[in-house]
Amino acid sequence: MATLLDTLTNEDLTEDVIFDLNAKFEKASAGEIVAWAVERFHPRLCLTASMQDAVLIDVATKVEPAVEVVFIDTGYHFPETLETLEVVRRRYGLNLRIMTVPSRDVPVWQTDPINCCAADKVEQLERALMGKLAWMSGLRRQEAFSRRSARVVSRDKRGLIKVNPLAAWTDLDVQGYIADHDVPVNPLKAKGYPSIGCWPCTRPVEAGEDERAGRWAGTTKTECGLHDEFQPK
Ligand code: SF4
Repeated sequence: MATLLDTLTNEDLTEDVIFDLNAKFEKASAGEIVAWAVERFHPRLCLTASMQDAVLIDVATKVEPAVEVVFIDTGYHFPETLETLEVVRRRYGLNLRIMTVPSRDVPVWQTDPINCCAADKVEQLERALMGKLAWMSGLRRQEAFSRRSARVVSRDKRGLIKVNPLAAWTDLDVQGYIADHDVPVNPLKAKGYPSIGCWPCTRPVEAGEDERAGRWAGTTKTECGLHDEFQPK
């Protein structure tokens, strides 16, 4: 007998349909976009969180408290990030799924920094997305020049629907939402880290620098590979 899960699909979302959705969602609120994703895909939907702040979690759990939140624990996070994870988990009673990497005698970022993200981040994302039809992330166009073309809805390389409900949000939108809703924020944000990844690959940024300039600074790398739409083709 078919179950509700069997009836969920993303196959009808052709590129034309996705184009129309993006036109419609450009003026929609983040809550409306999340509501569409939840109605279409929950529970075969998850939200990936980096614990820089809990804005998207706040928006999404107001729509669906049981939405699955995925956090990839590379083993190299700042203590402040893990503290934020705990604060957010308690505040929202999250349906939290923590993806951990196998323990290694020598960290991959020391032995193979080029492939460390692929081994320790992207592989965990692949596991987290197994059985899903769609996923949400909090990435925004204003975060970096390289992200200026981010769409609200797209189809990723796996064939899953990727939803970025905050794509059009400015930094001021984020700050305003945090203030209005008392949203937890990673304390590193107040210490010069507008973008926070693993500690070996993240430094504070200087005034006037790109928000993500502190990620993999001194290398040509700008993305970890989680968001494949920004990877070099
Ligand atoms: S951000 Fe750095 S330490 Fe973290 S997975 Fe990527 S290369 Fe490894």
